[in-house]
Parts: sequence; C-alpha cells; structure tokens
Amino acid sequence: MERVSTVNKTTKALISLGINCLLLTIAYFISEGLKAAPPEIRLISQYASYLLFAMGMFFGWWFNRSRVFFCSLTLMLSQLFLLHYFPHGSDGNGYYNMIISMISVYIPVNILLFSALKEKGVVSVRGRMRFLFIICELIIGAWIIWYNDTDLLQLFDIKLFPENIIFMPDLPHLSLLLFSAALAYLFSRQAVTGKNNDAPFMGITILSFASLLLSKDAAASSVMFLISGILLAAVALRASYNMAYTDELTGLPSRRALKEEMQNLGGKFTIAMLDIDHFKKFNDTHGHEVGDDVLKLVAVCIKGIGGGGKAFRYGGEEFAIVFPGKTAEQAIPYLEELREYIANRGFIKRSKRRPEEKPAEIVTKGRAYKKLYLTVSIGAAEKSEIYKKPEEVIASADKALYRAKSKGRNCVSR
Ligand code: GH3
Ligand code: MG
Ligand code: MG
Repeated sequence: MERVSTVNKTTKALISLGINCLLLTIAYFISEGLKAAPPEIRLISQYASYLLFAMGMFFGWWFNRSRVFFCSLTLMLSQLFLLHYFPHGSDGNGYYNMIISMISVYIPVNILLFSALKEKGVVSVRGRMRFLFIICELIIGAWIIWYNDTDLLQLFDIKLFPENIIFMPDLPHLSLLLFSAALAYLFSRQAVTGKNNDAPFMGITILSFASLLLSKDAAASSVMFLISGILLAAVALRASYNMAYTDELTGLPSRRALKEEMQNLGGKFTIAMLDIDHFKKFNDTHGHEVGDDVLKLVAVCIKGIGGGGKAFRYGGEEFAIVFPGKTAEQAIPYLEELREYIANRGFIKRSKRRPEEKPAEIVTKGRAYKKLYLTVSIGAAEKSEIYKKPEEVIASADKALYRAKSKGRNCVSR
C-alpha cells in the first residue's frame, strides 16, 4: 500500500505554520489600521468575536465537535475577563495581573487538553467532564481573586527560566512553556497524520498568545481574538461540510462526494466498484455490529490503495475507487494488490458484544478473539469512446463487478 512520505507531511505542516504566522501578521496590520477607524468600527471589532465564538460553540455542539466547542468557550471567557471584565488600566490593576497570570496558563492548557482528547458529543458524559474542568478553572480563578490567595497564584507565576534572557515575552514562564508545548504538539501531530485538522488550532494558539502579549492594548488584543473566532467558526462550518460529504461509519468520502469528484473528472480515468463477498452471510453469522466493525477496517484498506486511487463509500458494503488519469490497465495492478491484501489480512473480531441471534463460535481455546477472513470482488471500467460520462463508466464497472461475482468472487474483472 502506498503512503504519503513523512517529508511531504512535514512540509505540509510547515506550510500550515507559515500560513498561521502570516495570519498573525495580517491581524497585526488590521489592528494598526483600526486605530484610525471610526469608533463604531472599533466597537464592532471588539465585540464581533463573541458572535464568532458563539457560532463555533453552536456548530461544535450541533455536529459533536467537542474541540471547537470548548476552545471557543475558553477563548470567549478569556476575552470577557481579560478585556471587558477586568481591563488593564481600570481601578483594580491587581485583579488584572491575577487574571492575566491565570488566563495565560488556562488557554494553552485547554487547547492542549481539548486537542489531545478524543472528539465527543458536547452533552455526552465526557463532554460534561470537560464542562466540569472549565468550571474548576473558573472556581480556582474566583477563589484566588476573592481571597487574594497569592500562594495559589504563585503556582501560575512559578519561575522556570533564568531572568536575564533577552527578548523574553512578558508572560508567566509556565504559560510560555505551555504555549510552546501546545504548538509543538499540534505541529507534530499534523506532521505525523498529514491531516489538516490541527492547522487552525495552531492558528488559535499563536493568535491567543499574541492577544495575551498585547492585552494592554485592548484594540489589538481584540483583533487577535476576532481572527481566532473566525478560525474557530470556519472549523465549525467545515465540520458541517464533512457531515454532508463524509460517510459516518467508515470516515470515507460519501457518495455525494463521489458525485462532486465526477464533475471534475476530465481526460482519461478509471472507476472501480468493489463489493464485499457474501457479506449478508457474514452479518448473519457474526452479527451486524461485528459487520460494521469489519466494514470500517475494510474501508481503511481501501483508502490505502496505491496508484492515486481515491476511495468512496458508495453504499452498504459497496465502495467506488476513482483513478484520475489512469487507464484500466494501469489501475488493475493496484486493484489486484488491494484484493489480495484484503483476502489475506484477516480481521480480529472483538467479542465484547455478542450478536443477538446466533452466539458465534468465537471463543477458541481460551482466546477471546479470532481472525475472520473476507474477500472482495472488483469490477473496473475506464473512460472510452462508448462510455464517456462518469455515470456511464460507473455502470460499466458495475457490470464488470457482476462478472467478477459470477466468476466465483475474490477477483478483479473489467
Ligand atoms: P455477494 O455480494 O457476494 O453477492 O453477497 P452479499 O451477501 O454481500 O450480497 P449483497 O451485496 O447483496 O448484500 C449486501 C449485504 O451487506 C446486506 C447487508 O446485510 C450488508 N450490509 C450492507 N450495508 C451494511 C452496513 O452498513 N453494515 C453491515 N453490518 N452490513 C451491511
Ligand atoms: Mg452489495
Ligand atoms: Mg456483497
């Protein structure tokens, strides 16, 4: 199976980091520009972020994206306390210093925590635990301010680095360490997985760091929060896009995504249709839930296909693979490789949940699992003089699939 090289992924992560730094520069120039703007515009720029954070929270809750929800909540509360509740220059400058010490630690802790934890529904048990965590942070904050508990506050202001380092940002050492850790974590995770999910969160880490550094300049700091809000709202909107274009069970692009892909196909291309053999029997024997688990694992195998093939879940236990720019002859070796890989791989059945009807013969000699084997049949067709449109090529691949089935299954046909 083909893999994107780590060098490629690291380059992509570096590009994301670069784009985020560019965003920071743009945010800075916007904040400079705003100084000359009419007061109404400045007022809007200071409060619009709340709307964006609320949007991030709403869509995060709606689409079960806990990270965007809780990061939006964290930044919303941070901006509220830092700029609007205990602003710099107000009577209680002591309060302001306490708030900035705490918030500068809370923000990176929360970004790290909510990024490291698995995405869950906001109102699920784990989601509620996250609420509890934020409430604990608020209680600690309220305690420190109410009782002027400088002993506790010292934990936030703990000295970790020598004092005489030049260009040292004026924030608690713990905060600097945590912000660096959050950025390093997100960067390295993107460099390892090659997925873009962490890129906007790198952005909010950098921007919220800037908003703390600039917190004495409320206008500039608000712009940093505003741009973070835009990033979070964009993440939330992307979640809604993914909802429509990603198959929920397997995580593969859905049939709707295939339709979009087909509109962009030009020149030569090949489409393969893949169907799991005797899957109905498999479900009957092992239960639908095991069927679902195995379907996910098969989807992972299909996704790893080489030759530039893009996998889609077409429906049920059927998948489509599109090879842009390839003839059937060029695509077939990759399909053969995939078919053989799936046939030999074996899928471990986790036997915690048993099928309702027929208890399967799974526990063998004290072992709680057993490898189950599956095969797939594949039909492939290329764009030709007769089949010009992608829909026609799919229909032709479907016929080839039918031929593969009648040839005895576990084979590729064209
Ligand atoms: P063959 O393709 O080899 O001719 O036989 P088959 O038994 O696989 O036949 P067919 O493709 O018609 O059956 C599809 C079966 O796949 C029906 C259903 O039990 C199962 N199936 C479809 N979608 C899902 C799903 O999302 N989860 C599970 N567990 N099973 C599914
Ligand atoms: Mg089928
Ligand atoms: Mg089938």
